[in-house]
Amino acid sequence: MRTYSVACVFFILLPISDLSVADEAFKWPDGQSMAISLSYDDAIDSQLDNAIPSLNRHDLQASFYLTLASPTVRDRLGEWRAAAERGHELGNHTVDHPCSAALPDRDWVASYYDIDNYRLDQIVREVAVSNSFLHAIDGRTERTFTPPCGDIIVSGENYLPAVRDQFVAIKFYEEVEPGFAAGWGPVEVSGQELIDRVESEAANGTRLFNVLFHGVGGDYLAVSAEAHEELLEYLAGNQDIYWVDSYINIMKHVTANSPDDE
Ligand SMILES: [Zn+2]
Repeated sequence: MRTYSVACVFFILLPISDLSVADEAFKWPDGQSMAISLSYDDAIDSQLDNAIPSLNRHDLQASFYLTLASPTVRDRLGEWRAAAERGHELGNHTVDHPCSAALPDRDWVASYYDIDNYRLDQIVREVAVSNSFLHAIDGRTERTFTPPCGDIIVSGENYLPAVRDQFVAIKFYEEVEPGFAAGWGPVEVSGQELIDRVESEAANGTRLFNVLFHGVGGDYLAVSAEAHEELLEYLAGNQDIYWVDSYINIMKHVTANSPDDE
């Protein structure tokens, strides 16, 4: 049974800066040029089949933003738990993946998770329930959030401030200063194109590069398993330049090294 044919596409939010990093002073843990958060949204089979084995082979940690209503959470829960035990982050992506059906190409958004039908207290509760569910899977009490589709308006207001205290960080919500972070949702690109983009971000001075995958060698908005593997092999071989870790670990480092941290 499949409830999602297509899910979130890459989005851009306006960064709201409650963190401040003095560029000269700020360093990644081993002085790397750029941190890379590899994330995988929606809890889909090809991530368990292809992405996680590849990450584990290269001993790289990543973040998986689980849509908890996804059939893979029900059917393959032990594999998600094993991923967490291996050091990957299971991030919050809500239960039902609320997005706006009113936007273009959103025929796949059913009315029960059309965010335009939500109330603010309803999304806040769904996000909280998701954290409880994730805690039941991995035993952790801290995590990060990626808002589905990047759709953040509920009943006319941005809901992220109302859920902010449930998280270490929210993707693209507090990534510090202009130019500090960048993001990309690659679809149907080659391994070389993935590597070229990483190199150009580093050359441009991006300090944190978020790569947002969906399908890997299957499902939708996909990159091939071969292209993904090629990127990981490159990253694993260049760990003096790139710090690849889960988004939560990266953002904890940012927070701990932010002069304005409260
Ligand atoms: Zn999504």
